[in-house]
Amino acid sequence: MNENRSIIDIARAAESKQPETPEVQSSRIQTDTSEATALKDLLQKLDSKIAWVDVELPSRGLLSDGANTTVQVRPFTFEDEKILRTAKNANQAANTLKTLIHRAVKGMDYDTLPLSDKTFLLFKLREISYGNEYPIDIECTACEAKNSLNVELDKLPIKYLEEGSLEDPKITLPDSEVEVEYRYPMADDDASLTDMEQMMDNLWKFIKSVGGHDSRMVIQGFISKTTGKDVLTLQNKIFGADFGLQTKVNFICNNCEADSVIDLPLNESFFNVN
Ligand SMILES: [Zn+2]
Repeated sequence: MNENRSIIDIARAAESKQPETPEVQSSRIQTDTSEATALKDLLQKLDSKIAWVDVELPSRGLLSDGANTTVQVRPFTFEDEKILRTAKNANQAANTLKTLIHRAVKGMDYDTLPLSDKTFLLFKLREISYGNEYPIDIECTACEAKNSLNVELDKLPIKYLEEGSLEDPKITLPDSEVEVEYRYPMADDDASLTDMEQMMDNLWKFIKSVGGHDSRMVIQGFISKTTGKDVLTLQNKIFGADFGLQTKVNFICNNCEADSVIDLPLNESFFNVN
C-alpha cells in the first residue's frame, strides 16, 4: 500500500507524527515541494543523532567577562571532514581548526576565548566525533624507540578556574625588578605558539607594559636585554595558566623503560582518523 507514496510523503508523515489519513495516501506528489524542504526531510532523522551537547569551559568565563561559560558542541559532519583534509601545513592547520571550531561550537565568543578553552574544545570535538581513544606514536627521548600509545580522552583531567583564583596579571621580575603587565594566551594566539622558538619570538605579544611603557619597541628591547631568569619567570606566568585539559601524560618506554612526560600533540593530523 506504500508504493504510491514518495519518500517525501513518508518523511512528512513521520514529522507530523499524525496517524496516516486516507487523504495523505491518495494525495498526489506535490509539485511545489522545494528541494530544500525535501533535503531537510531526508536529513531529519540525523537531527537527533547529531545533537548539540552542552559543555562547560574550563575558564568558566572568568577571562571573558562572563561569555564562554557553557557552550554547545556537535560531532563533525562529512562537510567538516572535507575542510579538515584541505590543511596541508601547520599554518593552514591553525586556520582550519578555527573554521571547524566556528562550525561545530555554538554559544562562544571567539574573540575573548582563552587558548586553554580552545584546546579543550578541540579535544572534545575529537572525542565526540571519533570516539574516546586517541592513538599516538611517541619516540622515546632516551632510546629513540617508537612507542604506540592509546590515550583515553575522557580520562584526561580537566582543571576549572575558580572564582578568585586568578591572579592580577602583573609581576615584578626578579632581576630587573621591573613590573610587567601581561595577558593570557587567547584562541588566535595558537599560530604564534607552535614551538618553543616561536613562543620566545612572540613573547612580547603577551606583554602589555614594562615599567609603565607599552611601546612594542621598548617591550621587545627589554626582553632581548634582560636576564634569562626574568624571561623564564614571565614565560611561566603567561603560559603556565593552570586551567584547562591536562594534556601532559606519563609514559614508560617499552624498550628501555625510561619514564617521561609528553604533551599530547595537537596538530594538523590530530583529526586524521583512518
Ligand atoms: Zn626508550
